[in-house]
Amino acid sequence: MSAQDFDYLFKLLLIGDSGVGKSCLLLRFAEGSFSSSYMSTIGVDFKIKSIQLDDGKVVKLQIWDTAGQERFRTITSSYYRGAHGIIIVFDVTDAESFQNVSTWVSEIEHYASESVCKLLVGNKTDLDEQRVVTREQAEELAHKLNVKYIETSAKTADHVEEAFVTMTKEIKSKTGNLPL
Ligand code: GDP
Repeated sequence: MSAQDFDYLFKLLLIGDSGVGKSCLLLRFAEGSFSSSYMSTIGVDFKIKSIQLDDGKVVKLQIWDTAGQERFRTITSSYYRGAHGIIIVFDVTDAESFQNVSTWVSEIEHYASESVCKLLVGNKTDLDEQRVVTREQAEELAHKLNVKYIETSAKTADHVEEAFVTMTKEIKSKTGNLPL
């Protein structure tokens, strides 16, 4: 008898400008590693990672990376289809990537399900001297968008797990605890 090895299955997406660290965040979370020369390969689409929540429930996460497509603005509705959660990533050392968060949010509103959970992530906090976006600015934006904000470093692993777990818990509470 083969029992299902998870209680929930959620599809997560990583969205944001090219170069903000989406692939590195995924690699860090799913495989616990970081590579400064890691190149997202077109065609390698998602990774699977199972996590156990405080209540003992096992959630299997299918996490999609844009695999470089955002550079060509070719992300389409199929990428967003069926997504339960979207992590919008910007780089705290790149003002433009922060300004573009609202563009990504508009795209999400256009393509994704209305009930999709969103989380704002400011990545590369290890580069403190190069930081141009303050925590306060990002928190203000997150407040306006009515989403949570978490600062991460894919390089040092700071708060990376927390970001994915927070997103997962939010989806779980929003879906009314019905196994999907
Ligand atoms: P993507 O295009 O959003 O998927 O970005 P990548 O994951 O390919 O990362 C772009 C560049 O930023 C790479 O050179 C990474 O090594 C670097 N990078 C990603 N995350 C971090 C981080 O947390 N800290 C630092 N210092 N560099 C990072």
